[in-house]
Amino acid sequence: MASATSPSGPAQVLIAGGGFGAVEAMLALRALAPERVRVTLISASPVLAYKPAATTESFDETPPRMYDLQAIADDAGASFRVDRLEAVAPHDHSVRLESFAFLDYDALVLAVGARPARAIPGALTFRDQREVNHIRHLTSELRAGKLHRVVFAVPHGCSWPLPLYELALLTATHLQEWGAAGEVVLVSPESTPLEVFGAQASRLVADLLAERGVRFIGESDPQSVEHNGALSLASGETLEADCVVAVPELRGPRITGVPTDRWGFVTTDALGSVTGLPDVYAAGDMTSFPIKQGGLAAQQADLIAQRIASENGAAVKEPRVQHVLRARLIGGPHPIFLRTELDELGQATTANLQHQSFDDGGSFTSLEKVFGRYLTPYLHTREPALSQSLTDG
Ligand SMILES: Cc1cc2nc3c(=O)[nH]c(=O)nc-3n(C[C@H](O)[C@H](O)[C@H](O)COP(=O)(O)OP(=O)(O)OC[C@H]3O[C@@H](n4cnc5c(N)ncnc54)[C@H](O)[C@@H]3O)c2cc1C
Repeated sequence: MASATSPSGPAQVLIAGGGFGAVEAMLALRALAPERVRVTLISASPVLAYKPAATTESFDETPPRMYDLQAIADDAGASFRVDRLEAVAPHDHSVRLESFAFLDYDALVLAVGARPARAIPGALTFRDQREVNHIRHLTSELRAGKLHRVVFAVPHGCSWPLPLYELALLTATHLQEWGAAGEVVLVSPESTPLEVFGAQASRLVADLLAERGVRFIGESDPQSVEHNGALSLASGETLEADCVVAVPELRGPRITGVPTDRWGFVTTDALGSVTGLPDVYAAGDMTSFPIKQGGLAAQQADLIAQRIASENGAAVKEPRVQHVLRARLIGGPHPIFLRTELDELGQATTANLQHQSFDDGGSFTSLEKVFGRYLTPYLHTREPALSQSLTDG
């Protein structure tokens, strides 16, 4: 790694990815070590897709929320190229891109996300904004009485079921508003709704589901959709359904030269250093941290930026490893703000409910669903980009 005394000038930092982790890392480096690093962002997509908005976008006419990465990189004083990282040569400290360009690095930050895969065969897999039109079609069929019962199914091992809760609540609200008679069911392996956020939050979410007429079936492990449309459960039981909607299971991205676990995820130490690869760091959904969430991706990116800044001579605070899961659940009369702290294995340690907004330094506004120390305030200053098709995936 180039140090503060390096005669060759600022350290070359490559950041691969264009999601919350990559953008947070770029903004954090800009804030912490502007003179000491030169950042190049490489993303397969020209836009930062605000995936958490996909649930509400399914129920209104707003275009997909996304931000122009070139403009963000310009603001961060970074170079930007649309390309795909294909291979890392750790001994040479260089990478190969899809375009066959080779780039050298002093530090490499990987934040290329995960690959969504179908978790429940036969179900509609809601990946992100790419499925908005499917949900719009589904609700119009329910409204028209062509479908009667929709089941939202949380697959076993899903670390972030919140989007399905939102879809269930928003569907039920939509049906109430239209005076339509469809039935909405949410099936999950969890014992209580959104149980990672603790008992108090779970009770509140359970009340909200009940009030909206969403039937919650817990401790059930959805398997697949049968020919007649019914959802089969691991217990051997089946649940009648006209349509089943599930979230995907995630798989790691697999980049040549980067070791992964059996599911393709990259293992790091607590500060984001990739096991066995000097000066290579990883953040976000592509890592083996069990919970995949945008706010966590940003926290991991902050630690990496602090570490790179410090190794290049910037005066930064001692990094404090903390995993805080924050969420804003939409679908009721008001958003519900949820917060829990996780240990290094992703297990909840403390949980609490916040009725207004986050008061622990996070400037969460009514639109935000992902909290990043640098990302959230920055996005307040930016207008979303004009809608483009989401092509990578
Ligand atoms: C419907 C939905 C709702 C959600 N709700 C919330 C929420 O309320 N709060 C929250 O915090 N999180 C939420 N999440 C999770 C959150 O969106 C993800 O955890 C987060 O996007 C992960 O960020 P990331 O930077 O790791 O990866 P991603 O956001 O997936 O970004 C990966 C980026 O890398 C690029 N890329 C891929 N391969 C390459 C390559 N080889 N080279 C270069 N670039 C590459 C992609 O184009 C993309 O830009 C939600 C997710 C979904 C789908």
